[in-house]
Amino acid sequence: MKRNNFGNIVIIALVFMTVAVWALLPPKPTDIENYERYHVGMTIGSVMIVLMSFSLFLSTRPRWVEPFFGGLDKMYQTHRHTSTSAFLLLFVHILIVPINIGNFGLGNYLGIVAFLGFISIVLPTLSPRIPFLSKLTGQTYEGWKRLHGFIGIFFILGYIHSVTVRGGPTTPAINWNQVFIILGIVSYLYTEVFGRFFKKYVPYTVEALKHPNASTTEVTLRAKGEPIKHVHAGQFMFVRFSGDKILSESHPFTISSAPSEDVIRLTIKASGDYTRHLFDNLKEGSDAIIEGAYGLFNYKSGGEKQIWVAGGIGITPFLSFLRDLKSELSHDVHFYYTVRHPEEAVFAEEINTIAKSHPKLKSKIRFSSIHGSLKVEEIAKNAGGDLSKHHVYMCGPLPMIQAFEQAFLAAGVPAGNIHFEEFNFR
Ligand SMILES: Cc1cc2nc3c(=O)[nH]c(=O)nc-3n(C[C@H](O)[C@H](O)[C@H](O)COP(=O)(O)OP(=O)(O)OC[C@H]3O[C@@H](n4cnc5c(N)ncnc54)[C@H](O)[C@@H]3O)c2cc1C
Repeated sequence: MKRNNFGNIVIIALVFMTVAVWALLPPKPTDIENYERYHVGMTIGSVMIVLMSFSLFLSTRPRWVEPFFGGLDKMYQTHRHTSTSAFLLLFVHILIVPINIGNFGLGNYLGIVAFLGFISIVLPTLSPRIPFLSKLTGQTYEGWKRLHGFIGIFFILGYIHSVTVRGGPTTPAINWNQVFIILGIVSYLYTEVFGRFFKKYVPYTVEALKHPNASTTEVTLRAKGEPIKHVHAGQFMFVRFSGDKILSESHPFTISSAPSEDVIRLTIKASGDYTRHLFDNLKEGSDAIIEGAYGLFNYKSGGEKQIWVAGGIGITPFLSFLRDLKSELSHDVHFYYTVRHPEEAVFAEEINTIAKSHPKLKSKIRFSSIHGSLKVEEIAKNAGGDLSKHHVYMCGPLPMIQAFEQAFLAAGVPAGNIHFEEFNFR
């Protein structure tokens, strides 16, 4: 889905409002020697609270918020930005606020614990290879996720620190902070403690398993009862399987089947620890738990002329688009599926068959080891030269998406017409 900046604008507006509230209605303690430093440091601390509370809120994966950001993948991008900005402001806050507000006591110690806690959680995210800190995560995604789960505890300690060191009467600026502190704490508790009672985790069974090549698994899942709400082709979900420690981790995968099918099909590339383990160990008949569906990557909301680019396993949302075609395609589509070697193009035959019965779909399967890399100049030439009215849909490795995004912009595709799914939430 293309980025929708409404959610980001709301966050930025709230940051400015926070600065305004602290500028106009600040607390005025009489026992502070260096009031200016106190005032600036507290304003920065409040902005930090706003950013952190949104980071925690976005981690709850609220589906109703997706349209305001352009999908869950874009919400995670914002989460990364708000968290990093809050982390940097934390240093500024500590450097500016006079250390001797009130007497150095419990509140200050709690502040130090919260600060060290944030450092040990955020630094391994920003720089996963720092030798000492990488031990905390074991340099795995799951280790990092587990460590990340403690962040709210340090947020709560930070809050207790702020009330303990502050003292004095409550003012509008303090009340403004409390709103975001409550948002952050409730979000954290929802993610880590009580969300499981509200989120819809739907039980499925692995009905069939296939290995179309030496690194791909196709998993067919059937709902044990009511299936998840799979609203449109191209959405994704989180799945975990029972009976195996590694497979019980929750991972996101695109639903490569059509919403009308009575089963869910996933197409999974063995690319890391979990996906390789799944390739070797997942068994037919295993139980699965699904959460979703999420995502707004939907070509039907784009203009009439479209270009689709799939790189490697990024084919999955497009498979769903194609499998969903019942009547003639409603858009003129130039579809490029690019893989390195012919044996990787496991769905070539199916795609060619679908393309034959849909004249508006022009599909090209491209082997970069034989034909060289796909270039936007070639795509533009095939599309008639002028791309200013085209909508582009892309899915694949991040470097590929970034390179194509720049090239499409340079070729005249408006930024708002470029839509992509990022296979990365970290
Ligand atoms: C929206 C979305 C749709 C996806 N659809 C597909 C698909 O259809 N087919 C497919 O093969 N892959 C898909 N992926 C990618 C897939 O989720 C990762 O390849 C897989 O989780 C990697 O796990 P690993 O342990 O094998 O690899 P690792 O090498 O351990 O991880 C590689 C990267 O994957 C991400 N990742 C790892 N574990 C998780 C997790 N539990 N939750 C979220 N991200 C994680 C991290 O960014 C990590 O750096 C999708 C990802 C996203 C975000």
